[in-house]
This record gives sequence, C-alpha cells and structure tokens, in this order.
Amino acid sequence: MKKTASWFQSKKLISGIYVFVLAYTVLQLLWWGVLLHQQSKQIAGYERLELTHRVHELTQPAEFSYEMQRLQKEQQMRTFKYVGEGIIFLVLILAGAAVVYRAVWKQMKLSQQQQNFMMAVTHELKSPIAVAKLNLETLRRHKLDEEKQAKLLDNTIRETNRLDQLCNNILLASQFEHQKYQPYLEKLDFSQLIQLGVDELKGRIASHQLTSFIQPGIELQADRFMMQLLLNNLVENAVKYATKGTEIQVRLYTETEEDEEEPVLKLEICDEGEGIDPAERKRIFEKFYRIGNENTRKSKGSGLGLYLAKKIVEQHGGQIAAIDNEPKGTCFQIVWDEYSTQPA
Ligand code: ADP
Repeated sequence: MKKTASWFQSKKLISGIYVFVLAYTVLQLLWWGVLLHQQSKQIAGYERLELTHRVHELTQPAEFSYEMQRLQKEQQMRTFKYVGEGIIFLVLILAGAAVVYRAVWKQMKLSQQQQNFMMAVTHELKSPIAVAKLNLETLRRHKLDEEKQAKLLDNTIRETNRLDQLCNNILLASQFEHQKYQPYLEKLDFSQLIQLGVDELKGRIASHQLTSFIQPGIELQADRFMMQLLLNNLVENAVKYATKGTEIQVRLYTETEEDEEEPVLKLEICDEGEGIDPAERKRIFEKFYRIGNENTRKSKGSGLGLYLAKKIVEQHGGQIAAIDNEPKGTCFQIVWDEYSTQPA
C-alpha cells in the first residue's frame, strides 16, 4: 500500500507545483498585456494633446481630422501587435506546458513500472531458487522413496525452467532495448517446432489441459529460439491467468480469408480464463505493463512476456492481438499475411 500511496502523493505534489507555475506564467502574461494596454492608452493621450497644440481643430479641420485618423490607426496597430504577440506567447506556453506534462508523466509512469518490475523480478528470481534449494536439501537429508524423489525432482526442474524463462526474457528485453539482438532466420518446419514445444510444455504443465491443433508441413523463415520463447510466454501466461483444470489450446493453421487469394498463417493460443478488458488489449503489450494494482494482483510476473511477444512477432513480419475466445477467455492470435511470399 505504502508505495502506491507515496506515488499518488508525489503525483499530487508535482501536479500542484506544475499548475502553480503554469498559472503564474499565464497571469504574468496577462499582467504584461494590461500594462501594455495602459501604456498604449497613455501614448495615444499624449499624441492627441500634441496634435491639438500643433493643428487647430477649427481653423484646420481637414488636416486635424486626417491626423486624428492616423493616430487612431496607430493605436489600433499597437493594440493589434501586443494582442497578437500575447496570443502567440500564450499558445507557445500552453503547447510547451502540454509537452512537458506528457513527458513528465511518461517518465514517472515508466519509473513506477520499473520499480514494480524490480519488485516482481526479485520475487520471481528468489522463489524458484528457494524452492530448488529446499528440494535438493530435502533429497540430501532424507531417504525418500522413489515416487517422492521423482516428485521433488520434477518440481525442481519446473522451477528452474521458470527461472530460465525469466532470465531469457530479461536478457532479450535488454538486447531489444539496445538493438543488439540479431534474429537468426532459417527455414523452419514450423509445425514440427510448435508440436515439439507443445509436447515439452505438456510434460511440465499438470494444472491445465493443454491441447493442440497443428496443421502439418507449415514452413516459416524464423528464429528458432525466439519462436520457442514466444510459444512459452503465451502458454505460460494462459497457465497463470486461467483457472486450474481449464483447457488451453494451441492452434497453427493456414486460412484463405474471404476476398483474399493468398492464405494467411495463424498461430493461436487460447485459454478459458477471465478474458481481457477491451480497453487493456493494446496496453498489455507495453513494456512492464501489468493489468491492475501491484498490491492486489495475485499472480507474479515481470510485465515483459507480451512486450517480447509483440517484438518477436513484429521482427518476423507478423501481427499479434488479444481477442475474445468462445465461449470465454482470451485468444492471443498471431497472423502472418505475407506468409506465402516468404523467401524460399
Ligand atoms: P506478466 O504476465 O509478467 O505480468 P505479460 O507481459 O506477460 O506480463 O502480460 C501483461 C499483462 O497482461 C498481465 O499482467 C496480465 O494482466 C495480462 N494477461 C496476459 N496474458 C493473459 C491471459 N492469457 N489472460 C488474461 N490476462 C492476461
């Protein structure tokens, strides 16, 4: 609770300072306008006085009226100038303020998300290490029967896999950040790669029913490691966010859509969880973004999984989106439009 409260407090404080500075600047501008207006009126008064000394209104009426009109025009020009300048200043101040406001909030949000990320990652790194250590110590200290030993070992492997995946995500995210990761594209038997990935996941996921529909013989120019990471991240998310015992389906197929000649390739990972609010469906792909509040959220995570999924898909010329699953849950759908024109 403390962290969120302090964040809101600093947000309030910064908002207060910001509004004060902005209001002060605008008031200063208005005051400058009032002073100029008074000055212009004074100048006009002096000029008229000087005119009455110079030209006599009754003896030289034509010249007097001409001069009077000239003075009025000059006063109008002065008003036009300072009102125009004032408006330009006001627009520049407001535009600058809007830019600064957006930049500051973006930075604050990012640093808050980074803080959440550090908290989540520390937990995510520590908990598998603690579980693995405890399991290994138990195995060393006690003489357990074979079944119990196998259970502890399976559990340790699961935890170290989780650790491995988290490390891969962090590493890859930092490489993406510094544009250092160069995908190694090769012609893959994509159907086989997904099938092997699903089989491996089936071996370690006991909490859900993992099923698949994989069209055989689909080839794709892709980076093997990235594709494995993509599948793992999306399936692990389904495991995390859908109720235990429900079905998770992985589908890979080509489809020719209406009015299209070329087939598109689709990879879908669908779960029967609570689904994702349409308003959140774009934001979940942002770096470190996690739905809800860090203090009330039940599941742990880093907010990197979907960010990486999107980056990977885009690097491979595809598009990823979260859509509704029927009758309930979410489908993460990846579509390759240009699939049939890929280099052989
Ligand atoms: P993490 O899972 O580590 O929080 P992700 O980037 O993988 O980070 O996901 C971002 C957010 O999207 C998650 O915090 C979660 O709220 C939401 N989300 C992801 N996958 C699912 C899913 N299958 N069902 C419901 N919500 C999901």
